[in-house]
Amino acid sequence: MDCIFCKIIAGIIPSEGVYKDDKVIAFRDISPMAPVHILIIPREHIPTLNDITDQQAPLVAHMVQVAKQLAKQQGIATKGYRIVINTGPQGGQLVQHLHMHLLGGRELSGGLG
Ligand code: AMP
Repeated sequence: MDCIFCKIIAGIIPSEGVYKDDKVIAFRDISPMAPVHILIIPREHIPTLNDITDQQAPLVAHMVQVAKQLAKQQGIATKGYRIVINTGPQGGQLVQHLHMHLLGGRELSGGLG
């Protein structure tokens, strides 16, 4: 197993978990870009959003629901937050295991670049 996020799921690499269920886990980013920076990842190893099949689309919807729930739990739902799925080299994806960033707790710039 050479995927860092699979190792986190397996408990081989420690993480600060904030949520888990049978489909996904969520933990704090090791290098936070905002006061709240949580990663939501599927337990199944899916490299990128490009690999999501029609059958797996509900899993992405579930990740969004979990992000929404965590935003509320972290106290950032009303003021606002951002969810991001970096995909591929030009999309800034460094870890090849699908993940959704949940960012909030500060004013995020309006730009996307
Ligand atoms: P991305 O650039 O979208 O692939 O984001 C990967 C994210 O994973 C980065 O924000 C990293 O800080 C984060 N990350 C890498 N290793 C770990 C780790 N061991 N625990 C928590 N977050 C990590």
